[in-house]
This record gives sequence, structure tokens and C-alpha cells, in this order.
Amino acid sequence: MKLTKHFALEEFTRSATADKLHICNLPSFNEIDNLVQLCEEVLEPLREQFQTPLVITSGYRSPLVNKLVGGVANSQHQKGEAADIRLPKSSHPSADGICHTDLEKARQWIDWLVQNVNFDQCILETANQKDYWLHLSCKSDLTQNRHQVIHLLPH
Ligand SMILES: [Zn+2]
Repeated sequence: MKLTKHFALEEFTRSATADKLHICNLPSFNEIDNLVQLCEEVLEPLREQFQTPLVITSGYRSPLVNKLVGGVANSQHQKGEAADIRLPKSSHPSADGICHTDLEKARQWIDWLVQNVNFDQCILETANQKDYWLHLSCKSDLTQNRHQVIHLLPH
């Protein structure tokens, strides 16, 4: 099912955890409306600006899936208000031989979002301080968006 021109619902409901444990991870109509808004307000403009397909690594999460993947209790992923997207990788491998996140490009994406997009939170997340992803959210009530940018330190 298509949400907007470049995004399909399936990209937001895919979950390795849900597949493995045979858990249903389907949003309600309300939550689908929120996903459409997230696409229209945040993801489509970002894709258009940088002319690159966006890979969603985590979109909608049912409360059970959210718990199993260790999401915070009030996670916006449960409302269809948030998605995690992959960030561009450097074209040059680091000393460990792996191409990690291009933080310069990530900074350009974030700067552009801050200046042009009505988002709620934009969180630069990492588990190893080398590979990062971007958590982007948009509230169902657009007037409640906080325009917060957060850089999370690795745990
Ligand atoms: Zn997230």
C-alpha cells in the first residue's frame, strides 16, 4: 500500500523481530494517517532535497515489538509518528576497513531539516560511534512539534 509518492506502508512495518517471533506489526488507520504525515512533512522533502532514496530501518512498532526491541515506553514509533533512516556512508573505508557513516553528509541533512522542515525530533543515534542512523518524528498535531535536535552518545 502506497503512503506517498516514494514511500509504501510495507517499508514502515517491516521488522526482523516481528518476523522471527510471528508477531503482527500492523498499524491502525490513525497510525497510518500519522505515517502519511511523517512522509509528507519530513521524509519526502528530505528525499527531494538530497535526491536519494531513503532506507527506513524502523518505522511503525506495535507496543509488543517496541518492547522487544528495547524502545522507550512512550516511543513515537508506536504511534506511527517516527521512523529511523539510514545515513549516507563514507566512500572511503576507515582504519578497520569498513565504510562508516559520512558524518559531514549527516550534518548537512540535519542542518537542512532544521531550516526547512516542521519536525518534532531529529535524533542522531549510534551503537558504536561509527555507524549512525537518524530518528525523525512528526507529531500528529503539527503545532505540537518541538523542533528538537539531539545527538545521542553511544551506550
Ligand atoms: Zn527511532
